Amino acid sequence: MVTEPRSAPVVGVLALQGGVSEHGDVLEQLGARVVLVRRESDFAGADGPRIDALVLPGGESSAQDRLLRLFDMAEGLRSIITEGLPTLGTCAGLVLLSREVRDAAPSQRSLDVLDVAVRRNALGPQLVSHEVDIAVDAAEVIGRQDGRVRAALIRAPEVLSVGIGARAICRVDGRVLGATTAAPGGDSDAGPERDTDGRIGARDARRRLGTVTGIAFHPELTGDAAFHRALLAQVR
Ligand code: GLN
Repeated sequence: MVTEPRSAPVVGVLALQGGVSEHGDVLEQLGARVVLVRRESDFAGADGPRIDALVLPGGESSAQDRLLRLFDMAEGLRSIITEGLPTLGTCAGLVLLSREVRDAAPSQRSLDVLDVAVRRNALGPQLVSHEVDIAVDAAEVIGRQDGRVRAALIRAPEVLSVGIGARAICRVDGRVLGATTAAPGGDSDAGPERDTDGRIGARDARRRLGTVTGIAFHPELTGDAAFHRALLAQVR
């Protein structure tokens, strides 16, 4: 099969449940072509992945997990993500990406592609949902040091621990609300602090996003496109 040159990156948005259209709108405004992912053939073809990047939206992670398994998509998604597909999960999407889920629904599982343990619904009920400015420690997202992303928190999960395969990228009131995959042997939070002694190279490496990023909040609901722009920048 001849692969045609692509004018726009193709981004799959998992569309089994939850806030799909808001992500689609942000991605299309940035020039991406959006594919709604509802079955394995939407993201995997005989010649490899059909998408250049993937977004797992917010919603209800236990329902999304159940549907992923019902439609036999969990293993296929897990494979293309671990093979390097740039992936962004928001809220329930972070829960799906995580290694371990606390306060999970009965028999709820996760894809285990981001080395974090999360607790579902850590930030309270729907009624106390609100918008916040969140400082993000990742150069491509903020574009400048100590920049902030505007986002909504809706029954958000919290990252309880970050393993050596990941690093935290944002904290609010002492809680970790986002993480990204860390380079092997490199830049995890568990490693020594390497931002001193003018080691600019190490500092920059710490501030780059890995291929898999999970955030507990919703920038797509405030129209803040910084994370989506960073996702598209990872598409080669
Ligand atoms: N609490 C939800 C869950 O566990 C996530 C909420 C959200 O995505 N806004 O899936």
